[in-house]
Amino acid sequence: MSRSFHGPVPHVRRPGPLIHRSRGHIRRTCVVVPHSIATLPPTRHTVGVSRSSTRLTFVVTAAMLAVVVAWHPAEQLETARRAIGLGDERPLPAPAVVRAGGAYAWAMTQPDSDDPVGWDPCEEIRYRVNPAGEPPGGRRLVTEALRRASAATGLAFADEGETDERPFPDGVELFGRPDPVVIGWGDQGEFPDLGGQVAGVGGAVAERDSAGRLRFVSGSVVLDVDAFTATAVAGQPRVMEAIVLHEVAHVIGLGHVSEPMELMYADNTGQVELGPGDREGLARLGSLPCG
Ligand SMILES: [Zn+2]
Repeated sequence: MSRSFHGPVPHVRRPGPLIHRSRGHIRRTCVVVPHSIATLPPTRHTVGVSRSSTRLTFVVTAAMLAVVVAWHPAEQLETARRAIGLGDERPLPAPAVVRAGGAYAWAMTQPDSDDPVGWDPCEEIRYRVNPAGEPPGGRRLVTEALRRASAATGLAFADEGETDERPFPDGVELFGRPDPVVIGWGDQGEFPDLGGQVAGVGGAVAERDSAGRLRFVSGSVVLDVDAFTATAVAGQPRVMEAIVLHEVAHVIGLGHVSEPMELMYADNTGQVELGPGDREGLARLGSLPCG
């Protein structure tokens, strides 16, 4: 009985010339695997978000990690609740899925199909923010990114307050309720994936439910204190917010695409809004069946 582990997607930033590429590095996280394992195919991508007005470029690199899943005891209870008609209503309505010709990709698919892994839209996505290292204005970036993600997905986020838990814990919880998504701030010393140009890392934890389907149940986002400085947040709030939103989209279940108009693009210049593919992908992830 247990679960865990994560799929970090590092995000990179580098001040300087406009066009930068960096190679993401793949780091595998090994976890105890009592029952089953689903492993994400490693991906190497880069994303750059640049603002010509300031000559500041942000590059985002993805490296999805191994995901270990197992049936969680809580799922059994949830299934029982649903069997008697409880717990099967969405807190928010499903979004309209608009096909506008954009590109999107899933961070993870079901083991036996191309169907995406996502969150249960009938459950709130619980999250906590660790304020250590948070720059002035940093919380607003998080709040706004989550608001935009919720609007695009119809998924509800429940703010469970602050925490001193760190993102991407190394430990494996064998029992108990999955931890909420932890959003925090850190540096390369604590999170090696933040090395080089990486400005953030986001990923989710999947578990196998009683029907054998993978579901995200927890996750983490860590934002680099060297990128999210007070100056950067004050001077380029939309860009910094876009990076947080990009990370949150990874937690929700989107991967990178090669379309420049998308926020999930692998080498973007100046994209701060969700593109048509981002929106379609997020709407589809938010429209998965409950349970
Ligand atoms: Zn990314």
